[in-house]
Amino acid sequence: MAKYIFVTGGVTSSLGKGIIAASLAKLLQARGVNVTIQKFDPYINVDPGTLNPYEHGECYVTEDGAETDLDLGHYERFLSIFTTQANNVTTGRIYQHVINKEREGAFLGKTVQVVPHITDEIKRRMLLIGKEGKYDVVITEIGGTVGDIESLPFIEAVRQLQWELPDEDVAVVHLTLIPYLRAAKELKTKPTQHSVKMLSETGVHPDVIVCRTEEPLNNDLKRKIALFCNVKVEAVIEAMDAPTIYEVPLAMLQEKLDLICMRKLNLTNLKEPELDKWKEFLDKLKYPKSKISIGLIGKYIELQDAYKSILESFIHAGAMNEVKVQVVNVHSEFITDENVAEKLDGLDGLLVAPGFGHRGIDGKIAAVKYARENGLPFFGICLGMQMAVIEFARNVLGLTDAHSTEMNQQTGEPVINMMEEQKRIKMMGGTMRLGAYPCDVKPGTLAHTIYGSESISERHRHRYEFNNQYMEQFETNGMVASGTNPDTGLVEIMEIPSHPFFIGVQYHPELKSSVENPAPLFVHFIGAAKKHNEGKLTMKNPLLQSEII
Ligand code: GLN
Repeated sequence: MAKYIFVTGGVTSSLGKGIIAASLAKLLQARGVNVTIQKFDPYINVDPGTLNPYEHGECYVTEDGAETDLDLGHYERFLSIFTTQANNVTTGRIYQHVINKEREGAFLGKTVQVVPHITDEIKRRMLLIGKEGKYDVVITEIGGTVGDIESLPFIEAVRQLQWELPDEDVAVVHLTLIPYLRAAKELKTKPTQHSVKMLSETGVHPDVIVCRTEEPLNNDLKRKIALFCNVKVEAVIEAMDAPTIYEVPLAMLQEKLDLICMRKLNLTNLKEPELDKWKEFLDKLKYPKSKISIGLIGKYIELQDAYKSILESFIHAGAMNEVKVQVVNVHSEFITDENVAEKLDGLDGLLVAPGFGHRGIDGKIAAVKYARENGLPFFGICLGMQMAVIEFARNVLGLTDAHSTEMNQQTGEPVINMMEEQKRIKMMGGTMRLGAYPCDVKPGTLAHTIYGSESISERHRHRYEFNNQYMEQFETNGMVASGTNPDTGLVEIMEIPSHPFFIGVQYHPELKSSVENPAPLFVHFIGAAKKHNEGKLTMKNPLLQSEII
């Protein structure tokens, strides 16, 4: 049976509960503890898959094809572990399960209520992963802020578990904000006192209080917080704003967050944390040898959370190449054939982002054309790869009507088409081609150099695919499929061998990049961009429209 740590948040949202939870998990893992993290989200959606990125940022996809909260991405990136469907539970999923059971008649004529039926189901899910026997510690992050109506049943479930489980099997970490009043030049503890009071009124007693702050907390302040919030002084942890999220585990180590939790959970005889690889990464991240600029072409660029995993993958790959990757956000809606050269001037590489729907695709196609014709390293992900295929069809193969049936169902040249099995699907939630699928990589291609393997597996989230009827035309004219699904023949990777670095992938390599295992595609893309920056990349045989047609 595992031990459980619950992480709650108070005062405001966006305090970084996910990062604190992941940092604590990292420290425990570095001491040899088998640890995983799960997130309970209070909204009614069954999962975030149907949410617009403006609402909820990126939708993170796990190996088993669950569409989940982006915090699961942080957990995987910090811990280099895979999470699953069970690691992200929403209020919607809980209610769906209970209501289905009610329809089956499973409650034998009883009135179905929030307490105990909903809270029982929440508790069952909270304990589920811990019962697999794989983990010593399961950390559960409770989404939302204490005091929200929505998160009350989750907090109530934590209260019940705090009583039901042995004392040394449960710890509660509460994250709050200590605001700094500039005019008074003072840190204020009152909001934290209120937030802990509110938590205590629900019956949950925090064992540790982690205080987000812009300024260092002195001992007097820590003592004051301890006194008003009923915890020991050493259980008041300072969490100063950090220049990068990857420094937070070391900051928490210094503050002894791991030790205080270990003491509460009676985890004894653990080794000193082994963090050499992590520190090596941090060193490279903090002291890059040069700087490159990468254009991120997308339609949600005003909202950084929409491309969270891509941005983090750049950080991992940048450290690996010892360069600082400056990401230049270019809104695809505002790129035209006329201004593309000016908009993309000075960049060392171009990443065309995933996405859905029509908005901004003309700009994406113009950007691909520019990269292809000018020998600029190009990396297209999912919709980005599909746009590269359309651009090639239109401007190299001369199929001027070429399109994806997602954007134009009547197109005469459907080079990107809806997958056969998708045509029967009517429901939107959880019905895309999701999760990990194998891919065969053709020897002698760029993809093969990058992966160093003929057989890989990557994660997916799409409904459309390359239309294999056009394969011969593409391959004889210079764009080749270097990766395909071994069972269905679905195209996973397209590349242009005559270009210094031009690759598009149907899958999402950013979902498997972690600090300790950066995604190979990102590492090589950044490597190519670095060479471009140094003037060492030359166009081998540009595929200009005029030469081909
Ligand atoms: N909209 C495209 C599809 O469904 C691409 C999806 C994506 O970029 N994740 O196939």
